[in-house]
Amino acid sequence: MTENIQTLAHWLRHSKSAVAFTGAGISTESGIPDFRSPGGVWATNSPVYFDDFLRSEESRIEYWRQKSLTHDEFFQAQPNIAHLALAAWERKGVLHGLITQNIDGLHQVGGSVNVLELHGTAREIGCLQCYTRFEAGPLVAEFKDTGRPPVCQKCGGLLKHATISFGQSLSPDVLQTAAAWAKRSDVFLAIGSSLVVTPAADLPALAKRHGAKLAIINRETTPLDHLADIVINDSIGEVFSELAAAEPQP
Ligand code: NAD
Repeated sequence: MTENIQTLAHWLRHSKSAVAFTGAGISTESGIPDFRSPGGVWATNSPVYFDDFLRSEESRIEYWRQKSLTHDEFFQAQPNIAHLALAAWERKGVLHGLITQNIDGLHQVGGSVNVLELHGTAREIGCLQCYTRFEAGPLVAEFKDTGRPPVCQKCGGLLKHATISFGQSLSPDVLQTAAAWAKRSDVFLAIGSSLVVTPAADLPALAKRHGAKLAIINRETTPLDHLADIVINDSIGEVFSELAAAEPQP
């Protein structure tokens, strides 16, 4: 076991309020491409901006077409060792909670409960008019059958995945809670994020400014590496197999 992983396991064993912050990199080993992967839907399709979604039926059709492609990818994926280890640490009281930029819902499938989804979830659809939430599966199936974006069964409003689109603001409540968790954390683990998308990427620096030890686990370097107490540039699967073997306990 490398020294950094031993140190991290030691911190977690003695932590009272550790917080994990995850990005698309934690789900690549579950088969979901990250933002920059050459084969990913995000790399081959231009995202539909929120204003365009509101303005034109053509944009809504394109939005639903793209979301239908990623829907199957998300629902076939299974949590991997990192999702499962984080959920186990929460159950053991090692981890206070988890803040994620991901929209795939794999943390909850893996058993995490105290989860803040900064960018929402692709597992649900929301009505933009009456705010009713629906399960994504049946509505994606309806779009695939008809080629028309579904509308709300209750009020006829526009339906969109419960995710934050480009040009749409993050929920201030979720962001505020995430900032409070970051400030209170004694260990802050940033896992699988390029740490370039703000305001989410501001959280590790906020945690550090308020006294947390900061660990960054990511295959590539990030712009926040200079702030971190530990940087581990390796595959998340490898790192978590070693960390799980070290069995952080409260
Ligand atoms: P990102 O794509 O910008 O960065 C992911 C980082 O993870 C990269 O630096 C990459 O080198 C690293 N990485 C990938 N696989 C890894 C592995 N197996 N081991 C170690 N490191 C690995 O992702 P981001 O910072 O989360 O920002 C992208 C945005 O796109 C987010 O806002 C997110 O909402 C969205 N997105 C979500 C998903 C998802 O829900 N799974 C997938 C793609 C994009």
